[in-house]
Amino acid sequence: MTCPWCSFDGPRRALHAHAVDAHASEVKTITEETTGRHFYELQCPFCPQSLRKQIKPRGKDPAFVQEFAREIRLVAFDVLLYHLEEAHHDHGQRLQHS
Ligand SMILES: [Zn+2]
Ligand SMILES: [Zn+2]
Repeated sequence: MTCPWCSFDGPRRALHAHAVDAHASEVKTITEETTGRHFYELQCPFCPQSLRKQIKPRGKDPAFVQEFAREIRLVAFDVLLYHLEEAHHDHGQRLQHS
């Protein structure tokens, strides 16, 4: 698979690890002030769809989002890779032929 943000190319597993480290800033964590709920959001680079999901903290530790930022990214990028495979599976091929 080809990285949607740079020229990295590799198996899904390698791309996943690469994205978590190299494109960490793509994952935004949002805290709703009114409810105190946490969300992560990851914008698809190819379409207007953004992947947004509630983070369910274990306990009410206010440092949760910071401590688990890497764990959240692991999940967020995994979801995005599924989305890329389903909705944009021609992306990698197009790059190879150009
Ligand atoms: Zn990349
Ligand atoms: Zn998309």
